[in-house]
Amino acid sequence: MELNYFDAHAHPQFVAYDADREEVIQRSLAAGVGINVVGTQQSTSKSAVELAAAHEGVWASIGLHPIHTAKSNHDTKELGEGGKEFTSRGEKFDTDFYRELGRSKKVIAVGECGLDYYRIDESTKDIQFETFIAQIELANELEKPLMLHIRNAYGDALMLLKQHAKVKGDVHFFAGDWHIAKQFLELGFTLSFTGVITFTHEYDEVIKNAPLDMLLSETDAPYITPVPFRGRRNESIHIPLIVERIAAIRGEPLEKVQTQIYANARRVFALL
Ligand SMILES: [Zn+2]
Repeated sequence: MELNYFDAHAHPQFVAYDADREEVIQRSLAAGVGINVVGTQQSTSKSAVELAAAHEGVWASIGLHPIHTAKSNHDTKELGEGGKEFTSRGEKFDTDFYRELGRSKKVIAVGECGLDYYRIDESTKDIQFETFIAQIELANELEKPLMLHIRNAYGDALMLLKQHAKVKGDVHFFAGDWHIAKQFLELGFTLSFTGVITFTHEYDEVIKNAPLDMLLSETDAPYITPVPFRGRRNESIHIPLIVERIAAIRGEPLEKVQTQIYANARRVFALL
């Protein structure tokens, strides 16, 4: 199988794909797009590893998303209509459970983990810190990069990474300005961008200023569908639209940008 693109962050294990998961993955692989299936809690981390084990060109990340810690944000695209009654209670990070999953050779990162002060309030800071630090320590132990979810919390995240992280990683759905971007780049973290860049110019400055070898492409599917497919469910097959947009923003040849972004993914996630 020949891959030319990499979706650094997608969720094809979510309920949103129950009806056609295999077709969605095959469509992406046929278009030369490899996939990192990112877990958000125990169930979706386990199913990410299972999908990766069953497909060449598909890998997995394992971790506990900050919105599933102190409280659990219920997303029907992720979990369906069932289980809403459990949403007042989050998951306590169980290092042993994730360490066991991390034994799979197809596990390429720990996450998505991080801090989110947007969807859950700052009163949950203590548990978010504790859960994030435990995952940084697991990543150190497994010597795997971190897949970071950070929302309205870049300062605290940078502080915790400086204190605890011995590994590098990727800042998923980077949404900060150039001042913040520079600090992650100095720590050696790549920045990844979704289809959001096809309909807003907010991130153009960061995309232009960052070194090309520190950028990654991601869909965050099923969310954030790029133009011209807005309003539909997203899929990894749309990665070329995001890479095209990055090339256009930077004013660089598409082939150069595509080749380098794919090489970046192979380097960051040590893809075999
Ligand atoms: Zn995600």
